[in-house]
Amino acid sequence: MSDPILSVRNAIKTYGDFRALDGVDLEIWAGEFLTLLGPSGSGKTTLLSAIAGFSPLTGGQILTRGTDITRLPPEKRGFAMVFQGYALFPTMTVAENVGYPLRVRKWGRQALRERVAECLDLVQMGAFADRMPHQLSGGQQQRIALARALSFRPDVLLLDEPLSALDKTLRADLQWELKALHERLGVTFVYVTHDQDEALSMSDRIVILSDGRIQQEGAPGDLYNWPRTRFVANFLGKSNFVEARVTGRNDLGMTAVAGGTSFALPAVEGAAPGTTLGLALRPERIRIARPGEEAFSGRVRQISYLGERCQVIIEHPELGEMLVSQSTWHAGLRPEPQMDVSFGWDTDACVALREP
Ligand code: ADP
Ligand code: MG
Repeated sequence: MSDPILSVRNAIKTYGDFRALDGVDLEIWAGEFLTLLGPSGSGKTTLLSAIAGFSPLTGGQILTRGTDITRLPPEKRGFAMVFQGYALFPTMTVAENVGYPLRVRKWGRQALRERVAECLDLVQMGAFADRMPHQLSGGQQQRIALARALSFRPDVLLLDEPLSALDKTLRADLQWELKALHERLGVTFVYVTHDQDEALSMSDRIVILSDGRIQQEGAPGDLYNWPRTRFVANFLGKSNFVEARVTGRNDLGMTAVAGGTSFALPAVEGAAPGTTLGLALRPERIRIARPGEEAFSGRVRQISYLGERCQVIIEHPELGEMLVSQSTWHAGLRPEPQMDVSFGWDTDACVALREP
């Protein structure tokens, strides 16, 4: 396999005593759509700026295709960056904005004009070449910023929360467009967001950051289905947490007890009978039924209707509040507040966490 297009090795960034990046190791492959996902303050912008070359690392290395670029200035890296604010030059037209990186790189007039037109078409803004930035909507300005970033055919496009200033509907449209653009161009995208849905829907791979460290990385479905920590299970979607004691195991799986009830789950490495496990259980994996039909008994506390789904909180005397998410079109029991119900889940619904 060839070298990764980007390698970050033991990246450390300190501000005084504070570690904004605390030993980040990351490889990014050519053509990938990689997302850095984490709460505000987790170090996403710091990491992206270090890759771009805007903010030098305190320690560690950044390589592109095996070559150390840790000390190379941003303009020599061949990467482009799009920020949250649109950052267009207010006194230049749309076409001048998009052509700016090409003028800096001393492109000839004809080639420059053709490339600007091509890039404006790419973001469906061909008709707006002569407008000034203030004559454009937020979404249009962000398209122009994108066209400008792509104009000089960068190897890597770094995007720092580019859609976060836009309203929900527009954001969803642009998510589709960005994804399509990525597929069409084959450019490596390194995308920063704090929005889990955005990360899940757009990325080939997600890297979850918290407190300047990588918590877990993987394909969206793998991270969602196999969170290793409580933080990841809660940050990517919602989860119930159940403490269970292992009571037996065989080749196929294990049995455990939680809240006084026995249930089966897949075998967990190293979990001998007697071990206590922290389990994450997705709300959509829990079934609700009439009393006695499922293993656990509880009472419905609260229901909230969300359109296509409905969320139900069931109180269990020992497990506490369990969140259940049911399709509104679900054919089974329709829970109502104060109803006595039973609940349960399939054997493979529980994921054992490796608690920090
Ligand atoms: P994110 O983009 O994930 O919201 P940042 O990378 O911007 O987070 O910041 C990570 C942490 O580093 C935050 O706690 C932030 O306050 C701190 N930080 C960022 N830039 C500076 C700076 N110039 N001086 C001091 N602290 C900073
Ligand atoms: Mg940020």
